[in-house]
Amino acid sequence: MAEKILVIEDEALVRDLVVLNLKHAGYQVTSAATFADGARALAQPDVELAVVDVMLPGGEGFQLVRDARDAGVRYPILMLTARSEVQAKVRGLDCGADDYLTKPFDVQELLARIRSLLRRATGTVAAAPRALQLGNGYSVRFDTGRAVTSEGEVTLSDKELKLMELFSKNVDKVLARADILEEVWGMDAFPTDRTIDNFILRLRRLFEENPENPIHFVTVRGRGYLFRP
Ligand code: CA
Repeated sequence: MAEKILVIEDEALVRDLVVLNLKHAGYQVTSAATFADGARALAQPDVELAVVDVMLPGGEGFQLVRDARDAGVRYPILMLTARSEVQAKVRGLDCGADDYLTKPFDVQELLARIRSLLRRATGTVAAAPRALQLGNGYSVRFDTGRAVTSEGEVTLSDKELKLMELFSKNVDKVLARADILEEVWGMDAFPTDRTIDNFILRLRRLFEENPENPIHFVTVRGRGYLFRP
């Protein structure tokens, strides 16, 4: 079943852009354009995630989210804030939002954030195993970060370990670069796609028999990376 997402945004251009892209990504989408309509829509029992703009006719999105949380709404909420809104991040998280994105935003980033929030909310992500064993005898321990690799026993960096953990939880699934950015680097850093490619090259050097011809960290052209232990 496609997840149902609610978009509350008064600017028609932004709303249409978000709604169209969400529908294209396979979600069911409803929308509202004012504070009052938004309040009613947030209370609908079948909503699974909401995207809420801050400046709305009739009131602020912060208030909308706070009221919804007070009324018992537990699904993830992502706020859209303008760059000029001072302390928007703090206010957004204080009022009970789970994440925020600053306008103008990249639609691919919005989709990645939404996928991440839904994954966390539905708990479909399996817990990371304590250790990961690769077919070629190499291994990683997630508690200590120690790994048996082509360079002997090494300690992985924080980001390398997070990336291995993400792969281990998503065996045989294609992870888009935007997903990897969101899960490993989070909302406060801005690495480029190139950064991720360099980390993958490093993991291949450590864990592949033949890094030039990888069988564990596979490039899926135009889509991202896929991991097979
Ligand atoms: Ca607005």
